[in-house]
Amino acid sequence: MARPPESVVHGSQAPHPASTPHPNPAQPQHLPALDKLLRLPVVAALVTEHGHSVVADTARALLAELRAQALAGVLGADAVVQEAIAGALQQRLAARLAPRMKPVLNLTGTVIHTNLGRALLAPAALAHVQAMMLGPNNLEYDLATGSRGDRDSLVEGLLCELTGAEAATVVNNNAAAVLLTLAALARGREVIVSRGELVEIGGAFRMPDVMESAGARLVEVGTTNRTHPGDYERAITERTALLMKVHTSNYAVQGFTSAVDEATLAGIAHARGLPVATDLGAGALIDMAAYGLPREPTPQEMLRAGCDVVSFSGDKLLGGPQAGLIVGRKEYVDRIRKFPMKRALRMSKLPLAALEATLMLYQQPEHLAQALPTLRLLTRPLADIQATARQVLPPLAAALAPRYAVTLVALQGQIGSGSLPVERLPSAGLAIAPTDAKRSGRALDALAAALRRLPVPVIGRIADDRLLLDCRCLEDAAALTHQLALLAPMKTSSQP
Ligand SMILES: *Cc1c(COP(=O)(O)O)cnc(C)c1O
Repeated sequence: MARPPESVVHGSQAPHPASTPHPNPAQPQHLPALDKLLRLPVVAALVTEHGHSVVADTARALLAELRAQALAGVLGADAVVQEAIAGALQQRLAARLAPRMKPVLNLTGTVIHTNLGRALLAPAALAHVQAMMLGPNNLEYDLATGSRGDRDSLVEGLLCELTGAEAATVVNNNAAAVLLTLAALARGREVIVSRGELVEIGGAFRMPDVMESAGARLVEVGTTNRTHPGDYERAITERTALLMKVHTSNYAVQGFTSAVDEATLAGIAHARGLPVATDLGAGALIDMAAYGLPREPTPQEMLRAGCDVVSFSGDKLLGGPQAGLIVGRKEYVDRIRKFPMKRALRMSKLPLAALEATLMLYQQPEHLAQALPTLRLLTRPLADIQATARQVLPPLAAALAPRYAVTLVALQGQIGSGSLPVERLPSAGLAIAPTDAKRSGRALDALAAALRRLPVPVIGRIADDRLLLDCRCLEDAAALTHQLALLAPMKTSSQP
């Protein structure tokens, strides 16, 4: 239990392993009884604070573990002292009562990081969520008529206004939007997709599998690198229900390539009375190039090109909550909205409130880069990022010396979440390298692990035998530097 503190920074002696006999073993009968433990003043205080049940449950489990270890002869006598057990109980209780979801510092260089929660919510969106969740609201209640309403109607007008669509509906996420679109428009029939667009988004979202789940039959046309209008034309039969474009968001086919653009595809489809659907993925509602960012197709462009249904995510470039947005021609959106599966994929009131408030920010485009945290981070001036890196450097170097050396470096970040895969965001940050090159791999892993164990875990990335901390998403240097004192005496589970 009680292990010697081990510092990532300075290294230390290995702790006594819990699997080998202890030189000074504890006797099981020396463990206190549960009720005696609960009466200790420090434990009684825990009971007052948290209630009897959780403290007693945790203490019972702890005593059972200690008893098993004592019987196995692997527990030290010092671990069964009442104060030691009370201390262990306190720690365990704190860990048990702490939320598993916690804020982290994203220093990976990837701004919209799927594993770190994607887009950050705007304060305005958060405020609307809070205001709406604290009491009842008109989620599905038409205040004009006093009768049942449709939750979609809360955001449909805004979505149509922003994208130029005739109609819009929203679901849980874009994966659900694609699934629902395929099921509603093409179940039991064929969907034609280019072989160059059969993407896997990650997390088991593969276009061919989604197609199958939706009950539609995939007809692949063209080749991985080249697909021509004639490929689509030849594949169309009386079984065809839909032509589909998928934005190849997380990879790029480069070199000898050719794809059929939306306008051409819409021409081919409409000449035969068929619709075109586009899975846009990231779904920027504004021209990213106007913000100095790589260009990204917008839903409004897709609709203008003739696409009948366009779907995209709420928590990628849009900068809102997890959501799947479907915009397009009324005839098709109505079919999608009325399809029974919609009920299983519908948005909950919580992200719906966040989505409405996020979309409202787009009504004031001049303020967008400040109001939307994701856009603010994506457009953060390089000089600003460099200034933060320079601020962090001295305290970080001091905290990690002498085992690690820290340098200021230019870095290449990413937008993330599958958007614009080949484009890089010029950024700046810190590179940390072990001074003893021999065991650098383990030393880097130990440091990365120690940073992840800080109260606000710090997530960097390891590349070229260095731990890189990209400062683009660190707007407040103190959020990192305030924690550095905790690094030195930190206990590590892995030995350096
Ligand atoms: C991200 C993405 C999806 C999945 O969207 P979620 O909102 O994560 O469900 C689907 N298709 C494309 C092209 C994507 O980029």
